[in-house]
Amino acid sequence: MPIQEPSPLGAERQKALPAPTLALNLMADEFDALNASSGPQIAYRDLFCPHMDLPRALRNWSEARGVQLRSLRKITHERGGRSQKVLFGLHDGYAVESVLIRRHDGHTACISSQVGCAFACQFCASGQAGLKRNLSAGEIVEQVVQLGPKVNRIVFMGIGEPLNNYEQVMKAIRILRDRRGMNFPTTGITLSTIGIPKALAQLREEHLAINLTISLHATTQEVRDRLIPGSRKHDINEVIARASSWAERHNRIVTFVYLVLPGINDTLADAKRLAGLMNKRRARVNLMRWNPVDGIALDRTGDRSLGLFREVLDRAGVPVVVRDTQGRDISAACGQLWLRDLRGIPVEKRGATKKAA
Ligand code: SF4
Repeated sequence: MPIQEPSPLGAERQKALPAPTLALNLMADEFDALNASSGPQIAYRDLFCPHMDLPRALRNWSEARGVQLRSLRKITHERGGRSQKVLFGLHDGYAVESVLIRRHDGHTACISSQVGCAFACQFCASGQAGLKRNLSAGEIVEQVVQLGPKVNRIVFMGIGEPLNNYEQVMKAIRILRDRRGMNFPTTGITLSTIGIPKALAQLREEHLAINLTISLHATTQEVRDRLIPGSRKHDINEVIARASSWAERHNRIVTFVYLVLPGINDTLADAKRLAGLMNKRRARVNLMRWNPVDGIALDRTGDRSLGLFREVLDRAGVPVVVRDTQGRDISAACGQLWLRDLRGIPVEKRGATKKAA
């Protein structure tokens, strides 16, 4: 059963514009069934060819079976430091963005799971235009394929709440990790979520050794409700308990991300409460600094208050690191390029909207 969360998933629009049969939507057994019919044959791994110019054998196979090999079109990209942000156009005119981050030992792909987002987090560009639709598993996988063969880490931190598109995100992870295909190590996949309790319970039962990151950002229900309005019905204690239960079950550490915002959640009382919430859990805390977004009036915390906050956690024995968001010079927080260029409007309507403005 798909998990129903705050707003509908743009079902009318998806019905009006049926998605083509996309090769990257195929699980290995679905591929086998299709490949067994008469006509040219290929191996499952051939579907994931990272080159722009796809081999003739692959093109012949897709023509014979009426399957579309690629559906994302690179619209723009911006580079800054070690990051490159790409805006991908989708078959129905919408767009999503992905970020490629170069590390010394490979590349990280930060990918989207939905067009827009229903949760309207105050600090996030993606949530400002609302949810338009879910991405299919193939559209999720294709972001990774198009970002190139050096990708050896994937983080679901782009546009959308991955647990609000549970079925397709799980299918995408299964396709990515299939040994006959891309053979991506699940330990290299991080799912970043605000933590929907029902979905966390379901995730606990999956046989997937992924990494889990929970965007906590508050120590009280009241502050969390202000920062993540779409999560109002999710009890903060239940979110933490479900995430911890996942960590226990999979013998892994769950990461809680806490964006320190001056005047909102950065007091010593907050730090002490956070230490209490983390007590005796298989957890670590990532303290984040605010990455400015046009049109959002939040301040960046100073070194001193961040240092004091961290000290409280250190003294309580909670594993903690301080992180700065990547690529501030190219608006690398999730959804900023998408929001600046499109505000959730389908690409083909963008010209008309600009003229009308
Ligand atoms: S932070 Fe995540 S859950 Fe919140 S609005 Fe942005 S994409 Fe949605």
